[in-house]
Amino acid sequence: MKVLVVSSEVYPFAKTGGLADVAGSLPLALKKAGVDVRIAMPLYTRKIDRCRFNLSSTGVSIELEMAGKRRVGFIDRTDYEEVPVYFVDEREFFDRDELYGTPEGDYPDNWLRFAFFARAVIEMLKPLNFVPDIIHLNDWQTALIPVYLKEVYRHDPELSSIKTLITIHNIAYQGQFDSWIIPEIGLPWSVYHMEALEFYGKVNYLKGGIVYSDAINTVSPTYAKEIQTPEYGYGLDGILRKRSADLYGILNGIDYRTWDPQTDKHIYFNYSLENFETGKTENKKGLLREQGLPYSPDVPVVGIVSRLAAQKGFDLIKDALDEIAGLNLQFVVLGSGDKIYQDMFVEIAKKLPEKFAVTIGFDPVLARKIYAGSDMFLMPSRYEPCGLGQMIALRYGSIPIVRKTGGLADTIIDYDSDPENGYGFMFERYEPSELVDAIKRALKAYSNREKWLEIVRRGMSLDFSWDASAKKYIELYRKLIVG
Ligand code: ADP
Repeated sequence: MKVLVVSSEVYPFAKTGGLADVAGSLPLALKKAGVDVRIAMPLYTRKIDRCRFNLSSTGVSIELEMAGKRRVGFIDRTDYEEVPVYFVDEREFFDRDELYGTPEGDYPDNWLRFAFFARAVIEMLKPLNFVPDIIHLNDWQTALIPVYLKEVYRHDPELSSIKTLITIHNIAYQGQFDSWIIPEIGLPWSVYHMEALEFYGKVNYLKGGIVYSDAINTVSPTYAKEIQTPEYGYGLDGILRKRSADLYGILNGIDYRTWDPQTDKHIYFNYSLENFETGKTENKKGLLREQGLPYSPDVPVVGIVSRLAAQKGFDLIKDALDEIAGLNLQFVVLGSGDKIYQDMFVEIAKKLPEKFAVTIGFDPVLARKIYAGSDMFLMPSRYEPCGLGQMIALRYGSIPIVRKTGGLADTIIDYDSDPENGYGFMFERYEPSELVDAIKRALKAYSNREKWLEIVRRGMSLDFSWDASAKKYIELYRKLIVG
């Protein structure tokens, strides 16, 4: 079976969020299971070091006329743990400081950048001698691929027989642009109608991906149900309900080699279940020292590693902050995003410097120290397609406090509802009082050492590795190939 995974970000080459983790680790698990899998992504020349990653030219270049200009993309490649990775190198589009935009806003030509990327990926297949059975797309940046395959390449027997699967990692991000772009990206006006790419007077790339792909999936079973409702569907619930027979939910995994407290080079002390108590204490001490907070064994440390966006429940934290700050807890926060939440955390850290340590930014090393040095991990999301943070936290013995939504609902068992099996604290209604109650329940459990260690033991023994999910993807690919 030949599969091409296409993504606008792939760890370890370029990452802004969970999508990169998924696009970097699922292919490795597929490869292990015997799939001939390859990856395609843009070459962000300012992010991806050619020498470090050993990139070389394939000799293939793609020429396309788009938006009134002839454009050339060069295809480079490397092997990432034996998985070939192809990079589309077009300097005008991808030689930029960031992947999608700056704090001032998205790049205004994202419609063209990712349309070019989509076309180039299709065009490179034959010259590279790799026409896959399946193209596995991810999010709106890649969503035009099935549209092009069925509209522009439909008379090409080889290309038009490729099956497509689109994975929706977060339905709030859809890629919506003005309708005048249609001819500029080489599509016929016939795609601009309600059952295809048109969406309230705009062009919606993700909608195109949903309509034109052979199957659709999201990253957890609960989120697959949720996005078919107006509350979670961001306007696409109707079109998803129409395609519900082809809509699946497959939980993400995490890469257990990347995320392992026993081998993690960046934390203060390596540990596993066997030496958990020493390991957690040493990491907690190290983290607090580094963050300028006093250490006390009786005070649990709550970690937050997140994009600072309303999606992640920060408005709830804002409403409950005074009450939370009054609890016997310390917080170590790492995040970047909306100014309102950055300011909120910076202010509270100024006001309560013994309780809150806040770092604004994206810092993968500090993130690991927080997973390792915290007792609890807070993730009260308004919605959460899958969520990787809670799985990573469990692996490092930091117990998640979460809201029951999407992948959080699918991965966490609430301790108080199920004391025999629980390893987290979960609340249902999106209300500050419920959040505070869940934190208080966690605090209560923490105060009983034996009980707490039992909860941690359960959490650290779970298996959220990719192997199980990769099998589900392979089943789905097979189903699509058979037709
Ligand atoms: P998202 O919705 O942002 O994709 P996930 O929980 O699925 O959320 O994945 C987030 C990933 O990004 C995790 O690997 C997490 O550790 C990492 N991450 C989030 N914010 C930061 C940050 N500020 N610094 C470092 N890593 C971060």
